Amino acid sequence: MAFKASILTLYPDMFPGPLGHSLSGRALNQGLWSFETCQIRDYATDKHRSVDDTPAGGGAGMVLRADILAKAIESIAATEDPRPRILMSPRGRPFTQRRAHELAESPGAIIVCGRFEGVDQRVIDARDLEEISVGDYILSGGEAAALTMLDAVIRLIPGVMGNVASAETESFETGLLEHPHFTRPSVFEGMPIPEVLTSGNHKLIHEWRLSEAERLTRERRPDLWHAYVEDDDDVD
Ligand code: SAH
Repeated sequence: MAFKASILTLYPDMFPGPLGHSLSGRALNQGLWSFETCQIRDYATDKHRSVDDTPAGGGAGMVLRADILAKAIESIAATEDPRPRILMSPRGRPFTQRRAHELAESPGAIIVCGRFEGVDQRVIDARDLEEISVGDYILSGGEAAALTMLDAVIRLIPGVMGNVASAETESFETGLLEHPHFTRPSVFEGMPIPEVLTSGNHKLIHEWRLSEAERLTRERRPDLWHAYVEDDDDVD
């Protein structure tokens, strides 16, 4: 069964957005994945079709109502639907390449895009929503986060990416950031391509790339570097 995303949002026109182009757009046309949107506002009950209300306890902003979101979720996903139920949320567990692989192997995902100050906690608990964050910053809504997450997942769905080898050395796949890339021209503004890359010696090229990947990771991402070194220790 091809991967299917069911997206709950107040802005359904934002989808597929960038996912309708390039690699993911082609995959969408080929039926390798599909999506549907659910307009949360369709489940509002008052004549103004409001979906939010003031926070209990006071404070700034508005909160997405639990009852309305619960009805929207029920409309799009049966209780026995096996797909993970995800809420895009800055409070969530950070999204990783590992989670992207897991999702790419699943039948899809039900994705709730928050807005305002967030979502009433009771619907998160009652519908067992998994909170996922795309980074330590605040977006104005969950849509851009959902698009980011889906982009990372879709390219991993079998058949979507032509060159499988290119995925294997990519940043995060090996626990390291990827080595730098070069292509023509051979000299750009006085800077030549590193000699080893034009040597044709595959062993030396591999060693150079690995040492560059290690250097970049050590310099830029001490967190990844520590995990990588510790992993190595386990093997030894
Ligand atoms: N008041 C909240 C932020 C709300 S931002 C807080 O301080 O935690 C509004 C919505 O945007 C959120 O409900 C969520 O769906 C989405 N969002 C914002 N930043 C995000 C992030 N880093 N990752 C995933 N979703 C995010």
